[in-house]
Amino acid sequence: MIWLSDWLCGLAGSIHPPTLTKPTASRVRVAGTLTALRATHDAPFKPRNHPRTDMFEDRPDRDAEVVLVGRSNVGKSTLMRELTGHDFSTGGKPGVTRQPNHFDWASEDFMFTDLPGFGFMSGVEEEHREAIKTNIVHYLEENAEHILAGVVVMDGKAAVDIIDRHAERGNVPHDVEMFGFLQDVGVEPIVAVNKTDKIDDLDERLDEICDRLGLYPPWQQWSDRVAPICAKRGDIEALEECLRTRFHEHNRDDLLKFVS
Ligand code: GDP
Repeated sequence: MIWLSDWLCGLAGSIHPPTLTKPTASRVRVAGTLTALRATHDAPFKPRNHPRTDMFEDRPDRDAEVVLVGRSNVGKSTLMRELTGHDFSTGGKPGVTRQPNHFDWASEDFMFTDLPGFGFMSGVEEEHREAIKTNIVHYLEENAEHILAGVVVMDGKAAVDIIDRHAERGNVPHDVEMFGFLQDVGVEPIVAVNKTDKIDDLDERLDEICDRLGLYPPWQQWSDRVAPICAKRGDIEALEECLRTRFHEHNRDDLLKFVS
């Protein structure tokens, strides 16, 4: 495994709390063209020695990072917008975003990164889907030491059915796999259960999701890593609280202003 700490710069320049530098489109980095890599269908999220791909090329030099991962259409772009104030929507069909969206501030040693959605995408070839998944694995593996939180975003309405369907077919469901993979590379995951506006019995659903992830219910005892949110309505406080806790644990109270 190649760690990138050697070429990462030290702390960035001056900080301007409490008002952040106003985000501009020019600070949104979108990596270059994806190089397709072959991978086994439903292959596990395990570290592998594939060559570097373009997904890494435009990663800004930032020493602290929060990444969003999740199946396509779970609301990652919407959540990114709520976290950063910048609209990342592609306006296209799911699967259009195949490179990371980095959102950083000129004078801050921190960024949010929205990694491409994985799993089934209508109209996207399986080979390409697998390439995306493989690149996500590489990205997380190589940057793990800088990632303070890996936010697994789920569609709270659909997640349990999808997980159970995969499990019944004998496959490891993508979300479960990603949750475990993050832990394997030393990044404690936070689960953002989105679209809570579409869920009737929220406690029951959150317990089910915890159960599928191997977190013993009731979900409330995992409130530092399970965050019910409704990104569409801007209700992301539970996630921000998880991130604040995480930053504090990492002795990075200087980052609290990004999630308050
Ligand atoms: P992405 O593919 O994960 O980036 O998903 P998007 O952010 O593009 O959202 C996919 C769809 O889910 C869009 O139609 C959003 O408006 C919708 N969506 C996002 N967040 C929520 C939410 O909290 N509740 C509901 N009901 N829909 C949401």
